[in-house]
Amino acid sequence: MIYLEQNIDLYNNDIRAMLQAFFDNEKVSLVEADTRLSLQVQYTDDLDVETGVKRGGYVTYILADREGYRQSRTVVVDYYDKALARNPLKAGLYRLLSAYTGKSLPWGSLTGVRPAKIATAFLEQGRDEAQIIRHYTETCLAERQKAELCIEVARREQRLLADFDFKRDYCLYIGIPFCPSRCLYCSFTSYPISSYRGQVEAYLKALYSEMELVAEACREKRLVAVYIGGGTPSALSAEQLAKLVGRVKQLFSSSHLREFCVECGRPDSITEEKLAALKSAGVSRISINPQTMRDHTLSLIGRAHTPEQTIAAYRMARKAGFDNINMDMITGLPGEDIGDVRYTLSCLKELAPDSLTVHSLAIKRAANLKLELDRYGSLLQGSTNEMLQEVDRCARELSLFPYYLYRQKNIPGKLENVGYAAEGKECLYNVLIMEEKVDIMAVGAGASSKFVFHDENRIERVENVKNVDAYMERIGEMLSRKRRMFYEAGYGTVQPDAGRD
Ligand code: SF4
Repeated sequence: MIYLEQNIDLYNNDIRAMLQAFFDNEKVSLVEADTRLSLQVQYTDDLDVETGVKRGGYVTYILADREGYRQSRTVVVDYYDKALARNPLKAGLYRLLSAYTGKSLPWGSLTGVRPAKIATAFLEQGRDEAQIIRHYTETCLAERQKAELCIEVARREQRLLADFDFKRDYCLYIGIPFCPSRCLYCSFTSYPISSYRGQVEAYLKALYSEMELVAEACREKRLVAVYIGGGTPSALSAEQLAKLVGRVKQLFSSSHLREFCVECGRPDSITEEKLAALKSAGVSRISINPQTMRDHTLSLIGRAHTPEQTIAAYRMARKAGFDNINMDMITGLPGEDIGDVRYTLSCLKELAPDSLTVHSLAIKRAANLKLELDRYGSLLQGSTNEMLQEVDRCARELSLFPYYLYRQKNIPGKLENVGYAAEGKECLYNVLIMEEKVDIMAVGAGASSKFVFHDENRIERVENVKNVDAYMERIGEMLSRKRRMFYEAGYGTVQPDAGRD
C-alpha cells in the first residue's frame, strides 16, 4: 500500500499511473494506513521571477518509506498549464521513483494507452524523426527502441488510413460471447458454450435484430470493415456460423467493404465445414490463436487445446484458401520464461502466419487469474521487454511489421501489445478502432458502439449489457438506446422510440 497525499489533485491520474507502473499495481491509498511508502505532492503558488513562471511556481515531491528513506524533488513549472507542465512533472516523479526503486521503465514516464498517438500528432505537424525521438527519449524518458516503434507504427497507420472517408465510413463489430472453455486470464464477456447451447439460438435472434437496425440506420454510410469477435465465434456450430456470416452478407452492402474478419481464436473450435462457410461468405481474414506452443502452459491457463491442434487448424485454414491468417501469442504467461517464448516463436516461424499479434499478459479485474493470484503468483514471472524484443525480431524475420500498438492498464512493467503484419495484410478494423476516427457499430452482449462527432471533437459510446441473459431479455432496451444515438448523430433514416430508454 502506498500513501498519497496532495494539497491539490490536479495530476492525480498521472501520479497514480506512475506509482502503479513502478510498483506493479500496488494499491494507492489516500488514507495513511499501514503503508510501506508515502508520497507527498505539494503544489506551491509562488511567483518565480528567475524562471519566468508567473503562477503555480513549484511542485515538490517527497518520497519516504518505513525504513527511513526520504528524498524530495522539486519541479519549477506553471502547473495550471497542463499541456506544458504535464511532461516535466511526470519526468520529475519518474526520476524520483527510479532512484528509489533502482528500476527504469522502457516507456519512461509515458503512462497512456496509445503512445504512438504522440508520433502521429508530431508527424502531422511536419516534425522530423530526430525531433520526435528526442521528445520520447528526453522529455518522456522512454527507450529509443520504443520511440522508433511508435514512429514506425504511426507512419504505417497514416498510410493505412490515408484514403478513408471518416465521416461516411463505419465498421461493424459482432460479438459472440461463447467459448469452448474459459481461459484463466480472460476478462472478456465469455460463457462456456457447453452450458449455453440451449440459448445460442435465442442469442443469435437478438443479435440479428440489432444487425437489422444497424443496417437500416447505416444505409447511407459505407461499411468498410466487419469484425466478428468475442468470445470465439467459431465455437458456434457450422450451421449457426454459416447463417451468421450469411446474414451479414444479406443485410449489408459490400461495395466499400475492405475486410471481413472472424476470430477463430480457439483451434479446437475449427472444422473444415466452418472454414468453408466463412470462405464462401467472403471472410477475408481469420485469427487462429496459439497463445503459447507449450502444452503444459495451455492446460494451466485453461485452454483445452494442444499445440498440435493449432498446427492442424492452421493447415486446414490454408487448405481452405485463407491467405490472411493472424496468430495471437501472449508473453508473461504463468511459468513461462524467455526460453518458452523463443520456443513458441520457433513453432510460429515454421507456420509463417500473415500477421502476428503479441499481448503482454494483463491481469484484469474480471479475470480468474486475479482471483487465483495466490495460487499462480509464484509462477508469474511477467512479460519482459526482452520477450517483446524476441517477438519483434521474429516478426521482422517473417517480414511482418508493426502497424498497431497499445498498452493496457495492469500490464506488469506497463509493456505493450503490438500487431505485426505483412504488407497489405494489416487488420484495418484494429487500426480504425484504435484511432477512433470512424463510427463503430457494435452488436451483441457487452458490445460498445462508438459514434464520432467530428465537428464537435467528441465521441459518444452506447454500451450493451455484458450479461448474456440480460442482453437477450433487454434487447428492446438495447435497440432503443441505439435508435436514440442514431437520431442524435444525424442518421436520418431512424427515429427514436417514444418514451423508452
Ligand atoms: S478464448 Fe478469449 S474470450 Fe474465450 S475465454 Fe479465452 S480469452 Fe476469453
